[in-house]
Amino acid sequence: MSAPRLEIDLNKIRHNVSTLVTLLDAKGISVSGVTKAFLGDPLIANAMLEAGVASLSDSRIENIESMRQSGITARMSLIRSPMLSQVERVVAAADLSLNTEIEVISALSNAALNQGKNHEILLMVELGDLREGVLPVDLKEMIHKVRNLPNIKLMGLGANLGCRSGVCPDKRNMAELSDMVEQIECDKRFHMPIVSGGNSSNLKWIFAGEEIGRINNLRLGEAILLGREALRQKPIPGLYLDAISLVGEVIENKIKPTKPWGTIVQSALDAIPSMGGQTTIQQAIIAIGSQDVDPEGLTPSPGLKVLHASSDHLVINTGVTTLAIGDEVSFQLTYGALVRAMSSPYVARSFSGAEAMKRSAKPSSPLPAAA
Ligand SMILES: *Cc1c(COP(=O)(O)O)cnc(C)c1O
Repeated sequence: MSAPRLEIDLNKIRHNVSTLVTLLDAKGISVSGVTKAFLGDPLIANAMLEAGVASLSDSRIENIESMRQSGITARMSLIRSPMLSQVERVVAAADLSLNTEIEVISALSNAALNQGKNHEILLMVELGDLREGVLPVDLKEMIHKVRNLPNIKLMGLGANLGCRSGVCPDKRNMAELSDMVEQIECDKRFHMPIVSGGNSSNLKWIFAGEEIGRINNLRLGEAILLGREALRQKPIPGLYLDAISLVGEVIENKIKPTKPWGTIVQSALDAIPSMGGQTTIQQAIIAIGSQDVDPEGLTPSPGLKVLHASSDHLVINTGVTTLAIGDEVSFQLTYGALVRAMSSPYVARSFSGAEAMKRSAKPSSPLPAAA
């Protein structure tokens, strides 16, 4: 099989989805499966849908368009504020988008008028992480403007925490979001059917058993694909951590000194690891590099250690493990490493579990409104 490659177990992804969907459904929360980490690959997107996500979400319109082209008709949301230059495409391919700027929403309104469609939006609210979001003080005026725009349907509010400043979703900020929804509904006399509370970093708040309030949707990527809660990388009980792994091939394997020789530039000295008194190590090179993956985000099998990566060579200490030229080495990935590997044209994808996926029954429980 070709290397390097991502090995993707669709059954394990299905399991992770249905476990999360069941857990969150019991709390009145629907799951939107976030597809950006795998560029909207239709096999993975369909596995998510089969296992019960209510909709799909992506931050790039290109991925949404390619999922449409592959025949997926499910609800899809663009979860990054649309670029002004892409509003026509957003209205054409996505059912809903997350927004923070009135100029963009006006342009969406024009595009929707042109296309004879309605376009749904959520307004994202800033809750302290300082990435996207309307400041709470500006929300009322924004809603007033939005509701005057033709062919735009304001479906509710959303928030995103944990992505820039590491602010944790908790009792306080989630209650703040619910309160905003209720206040607006009361003042403006209209119902907001969707309140999208956040991403995989919200699961800790869910597990803490806090009041859910009005939150009825989460947008989940990392938890589904890697089985981890996003802020502290803690494994989520009951989920597979190895639904996706990266496989690379050994191209050199030699006993080498631990210390380089020759005149060494100062800036490189820090990068040379000390080997605790060892004078030689068993050193292998895997044919993969920082052009394909974030090397910091790779965990090899026990006994192996990543020492260094340049753009196309990954140097590892193989310890007592015996490796031959042509052998394959498998790594677990962080989300950042996964995204880069999925985006590299040099990294192949191999799937397992597709047949079992087709045979299994779809979940039958009704789900609440989906973003
Ligand atoms: C990427 C993203 C998500 C999904 O985040 P995960 O940590 O992968 O669950 C959700 N919402 C927004 C706005 C995002 O950009």
